[in-house]
Amino acid sequence: MSEHATPTVGREWQLTSRPSGWPTPENFALVEAPVRQPGPGEILVRNAYLSVDPYMRGRMNDVKSYVPPFQLGKAMDGGAVGYVVASEAEGFQVGDAVLHGLGWREYATLGAAHAVKVDPELAPLSYYLGALGMPGLTAYAGLLEVAAFKEGDTVFVSGAAGAVGSLVGQIARLKGAARVIGSAGSAEKVAKLVDGYGFDAAFNYKDGPVREQLEKAAPEGIDVYFDNVGGDHLEAAISTLNAHGRVTLCGAIAQYNDTTAPVGPRNLAMAIGKRLQLRGMLVNDHTELQPQFVAEVGGWLRDGKLTYDETVVDGVEHTAEAFIGLLRGDNTGKMVVRLAS
Ligand code: NDP
Repeated sequence: MSEHATPTVGREWQLTSRPSGWPTPENFALVEAPVRQPGPGEILVRNAYLSVDPYMRGRMNDVKSYVPPFQLGKAMDGGAVGYVVASEAEGFQVGDAVLHGLGWREYATLGAAHAVKVDPELAPLSYYLGALGMPGLTAYAGLLEVAAFKEGDTVFVSGAAGAVGSLVGQIARLKGAARVIGSAGSAEKVAKLVDGYGFDAAFNYKDGPVREQLEKAAPEGIDVYFDNVGGDHLEAAISTLNAHGRVTLCGAIAQYNDTTAPVGPRNLAMAIGKRLQLRGMLVNDHTELQPQFVAEVGGWLRDGKLTYDETVVDGVEHTAEAFIGLLRGDNTGKMVVRLAS
């Protein structure tokens, strides 16, 4: 049983205006809203951790995409984990921990069919938003399936100190990569990649042209590029990839806040002679790998073979700041917001 009384009012984030370029706190408002009591088949969840993720920036634009845009003046949503505080659904008890899609708020009422029970004894609850959740599956499927990684490959990953990137590099190492190279945006992050995550080489993309730094870090070229960034990183990778190299196009965070059309990669024609494969991915296409992913990554975490970091921002009132901070690179590992219990 939960010691929390069933709430009648909770706070939720709304998008009040669409950002042009970088989002600012003025684009968001935290408002009080009545908490709906669960109907038949529904549960009421007290959120414990909210996820902020780069893809949410795209949802702030009024454009058709693979996820619908946030509606102005309506509650925002996204990944969250929390505890059931009232249940009208078979199989869900008060106190159960669940993962669901109604984040950016303190309390969520939803159909139990849209929630997945998770085990907080197996791993800290917040891990289900990261290493054991959507970013983890992105890294696992993006490297092993989309890029068709094989032992002996040299792998380069951008955004390497982030949630997805830090896992990509470590999975590559654990699966027998010849060399793992990462790029990130600060000296501390670069040190973390080598000392904390076991990368063979790393560089700060702000220190100089990516192509020059990548060529130095990969004298024999690269076989796989896991792209979280786009732009100059993708262009540099195309130049550095060996024949039959493979690229996972996972994200292009360097351009999420651009207001003008991006230039390049200007060297795409090199993909012809090198017979490169560039494949876009969406994590939701790879749910069939979920059991294998949880077993393997969960095992590495348990055995201490894989290091997983989180940047935790406390308080629902700081969610918008946490999101903006994520785009700016304030995080090492997964950015999550912890709510007061
Ligand atoms: P991260 O934890 O990696 O956080 C974002 C990071 O991006 C920041 O920490 C920052 O680190 C880096 N960054 C910001 N601006 C730039 C820039 N101009 N150039 C280079 N790096 C920059 O986020 P996630 O791990 O959640 O996501 C990583 C990528 O994967 C994103 O592009 C995201 O959209 C994508 N993604 C795609 C999915 C799919 O299904 N296709 C699913 C999940 C994620 P730094 O300090 O190093 O700059």
